[in-house]
Amino acid sequence: MVETLKVALLGAPAVGKTSIIRQFVCGEFRETYVPTRARQVYSPAVVLNDHVFELRLMDLPPLASFPLTSLQEWADVRCHGLRSVHAYVLVYDICCFESFEYIKILRQQILDCRTGEVPILIVGNKRDLQRRRIMPRRTVAQLVKKSWKCGYVECSAKHNWRVLLLFRELLRGVVGSGIKHVHPSIRLQGALRRNRCSLM
Ligand code: GDP
Ligand code: MG
Repeated sequence: MVETLKVALLGAPAVGKTSIIRQFVCGEFRETYVPTRARQVYSPAVVLNDHVFELRLMDLPPLASFPLTSLQEWADVRCHGLRSVHAYVLVYDICCFESFEYIKILRQQILDCRTGEVPILIVGNKRDLQRRRIMPRRTVAQLVKKSWKCGYVECSAKHNWRVLLLFRELLRGVVGSGIKHVHPSIRLQGALRRNRCSLM
């Protein structure tokens, strides 16, 4: 039996959301920036502790704000399902302060409009540009883990560094939070297609 986990990756433009997903799903990285224009859902399968999960990774074009009501969610096709995912990955660029401020606001908006606990993983991308970082890792990790009670991972989509770890942390957060409304499905064959399954 395969469980389906819906996950939205959100963050300011150009922080590397698409790059993280494409590195994880396809093992590819593109230097040139191609802004995401339409909503895209990637469905890789992963195996964690002998369990198969089908991830539904939602990659969205920049949104003006998180949909605060169901009406707002349904008025914009790009947002469909955004308020009911199993977890959020909020990505910022470790060299860009504004992108951190962006996820701060996003996190608050998510907390304001979701009832019950929802796992949120904070990701600092572009770790290969470490020398240009705007805040010490320890300061951010402390804030995120102690005050926000969220997981924190730094990665480099460019070098495929800690990308797998990021998804492992994410799954642990979701499975560990004991979320019960993960939908079982029997599409095991499809989920295990070649090149689409990661052992974690
Ligand atoms: P998105 O708008 O958040 O989806 O960002 P993209 O994934 O399209 O990436 C934006 C730009 O950042 C592209 O030019 C990527 O090549 C670059 N990029 C993404 N991840 C990394 C990374 O880990 N390191 C570096 N140096 N550049 C990255
Ligand atoms: Mg993108």
